[in-house]
Amino acid sequence: MSLTDLIYAGSNAVAGLTEGAVKDAIEKYGPDKAVAYPDTAYCLPIIYAATGVKIKTLGDLPAAVDIQKSLITNEDDLGQALNAGLATAVGAEIIEAVRYLDGDPYTDDAGIGFVPDPIIRSLGVPLVTGDIPGIAVLLGKSEDAASLAAIVKSYQEKGLLTFMVGDIIEQAVEGGVKMGLDYRVIPLGHDVTSVIHVVSVAIRAALIFGAIEPGKLPDFLTYTKDRVPAFVNTFGAIDEVVVSVGAGAIALGFPVIADVEVPEVPGALMTQADHEKTVETSLEARDIKIKVTKIDVPVAVASAFEGERVRKDTMFAEFGGNRTECWELVKMADLADVEDHKITVVGPDIDDAQFAGVDVVRLPLGVVVEVAGKAMQKDFETVLERRIHYFMNYVEGAMHVGQRNIAWIRLTKEAFEKGFRLKHIGEVLYAKMRDEFDKVVDKCQVTIYTNPEDVKKLGEEMVKPIYAERDERMDALTDESVDEFYTCLLCQSFAPSHVCIVTPERLGLCGAVSWLDAKATKELDPTGPNQPVVKGEAIDEKLGRWASVDEAVATNSQGAVEQVTLYSILEDPMTSCGCFECICGIMPEANGVIIVNREFGDTSPVGMTFGELASMTGGGVQTPGFMGHGRFLIGSKKFMAAEGGLTRIVWMPKELKDDVAERLNKAVKELTGIDNFADMVCDETIANDSEGVLEFLESKGHPALGMDPIM
Ligand code: SF4
Ligand code: ZN
Repeated sequence: MSLTDLIYAGSNAVAGLTEGAVKDAIEKYGPDKAVAYPDTAYCLPIIYAATGVKIKTLGDLPAAVDIQKSLITNEDDLGQALNAGLATAVGAEIIEAVRYLDGDPYTDDAGIGFVPDPIIRSLGVPLVTGDIPGIAVLLGKSEDAASLAAIVKSYQEKGLLTFMVGDIIEQAVEGGVKMGLDYRVIPLGHDVTSVIHVVSVAIRAALIFGAIEPGKLPDFLTYTKDRVPAFVNTFGAIDEVVVSVGAGAIALGFPVIADVEVPEVPGALMTQADHEKTVETSLEARDIKIKVTKIDVPVAVASAFEGERVRKDTMFAEFGGNRTECWELVKMADLADVEDHKITVVGPDIDDAQFAGVDVVRLPLGVVVEVAGKAMQKDFETVLERRIHYFMNYVEGAMHVGQRNIAWIRLTKEAFEKGFRLKHIGEVLYAKMRDEFDKVVDKCQVTIYTNPEDVKKLGEEMVKPIYAERDERMDALTDESVDEFYTCLLCQSFAPSHVCIVTPERLGLCGAVSWLDAKATKELDPTGPNQPVVKGEAIDEKLGRWASVDEAVATNSQGAVEQVTLYSILEDPMTSCGCFECICGIMPEANGVIIVNREFGDTSPVGMTFGELASMTGGGVQTPGFMGHGRFLIGSKKFMAAEGGLTRIVWMPKELKDDVAERLNKAVKELTGIDNFADMVCDETIANDSEGVLEFLESKGHPALGMDPIM
């Protein structure tokens, strides 16, 4: 059979299955039964993207099946056959959706199935920074489980996000692969149709970040081809359904690499029978470049391990976490005073004789990273220091929480057994500081203290005064006190017309880029994503409008956005890309706004979930009344200052409220004299419906109720 014949055979088979599944479901539940995937604002995303139609009930599905069938022309033409692959995608989306009718069918460990919107949004930043350099989709059953596991581990160590479908999931587990979203290895499911859940991720990326118009299928295909760095590896014998799935992948621009003989299509479909070369062939096929830093430690160090948790039962050693003192500091020093790559441990290490037989090794810990370089600036100390959190989390077997003197570190037994010791923390920090900050760090040395007296004394006499001094400097750092703001264009790789303007009092909406970060990045990468905008005179101080900012946004959005204000949510608000930590929306009856963070799963008092609210904005489009922003903005005096500011906030999820309360209270006190403002803000534990929220606000005398009408 020719390749096109194979594709059509698979596509027709899937069309038959889809038709049958829909018919059976309608017979069983009736046409009015709701059909939906969990926690998404895009219904059945692939059908929505391809046709602009939002599928709501089973009765909507037969029309979608007709579209599916119309994509299968059976013409002897490869382009047409690839369209038939897309038909298979539509069919798989329907078949899987039908499986969701009785609730989540993915309840065992073998797969997660549908990936909710908030997770896709959370992947935005690591993808644009290259922290996740690519997406691998693996499916099938390998002839050789060991080499399959080695391939997955290799992707993991390179930071890729790997999705798995089929028997290879068990094979990888048997091969010792750590799995789960936290490890960037995601089992989707057993049936081949579950591969659709990764296609759905790619398509929703185009909807969320790219603002591609539903119904314009060719635009979606261009988007996924150009901007979603994914590829497919198949293992074992391939039947016609897999071939047709592969055709769909190719239509999306994802090359397929099989380990059995397949008819080659240059750049799109190829064979690599040697599993030792699968990774290399795949990365080349998708043009994914991996930067490797060799670090001399006995465990893996990779961004894929960033989310790893260390629980009590696997823990070997612990520092901080309210049990011992634990702090970390990055300090600038004179070139002459730093000996490059000097790592010193002062005090007992975790293998010290005194710990023989103890359950968990607990030690105080002080980490001092001294850096020197001609281009280093004092302001960059905090930028580098905050990276310690990430660098330590990259270590396989280490967990790092917090920062400064509330740092908390755990190490696993496994890491200890592999030979990991405290000096290796120094090695990792040294290597990463030199590597990521090469333009400003010419020399770096790390000293680790574990004697209780040292940690206490240095903590009091050296570290605390430095923190205090920095806090003072940060407090004094306002939008008025600087001459330059910065653009951030990082997210343009996904949201081509989005521009963040980062100011001292308004960090990037992802929460990951502060004004100081942007300033440091400019130094590290002079032609990079952060460029200064020389402020000049404001056109309107209250709205936060500057001619210089308008110009920077217009130029960098290629004219898509011509004017933005920095302090208003209603008048030319800043655009969103899609990866924001929080979304703020107006609650008219409360004369204020609610804020929902990405982690909050329930419906908010305006009747929408985070995902639904988030879908109202994004993709670099201005949407008055909605604003994506970072957590840290809640506590900034510039937070929608044009509409009355922080005291407009009437509702937040409790976790978010507790997280921001201290800064929020301080800022509101300084602005208005009101004490403990956070206590006036409603949360889901108090009320989650409009009436209940209003009642609470009235009982607290919330200031928003007395302000000018917001709309
Ligand atoms: Fe993206 Fe804005 Fe964050 Fe830059 S600051 S990474 S553009 S969200
Ligand atoms: Zn973004």
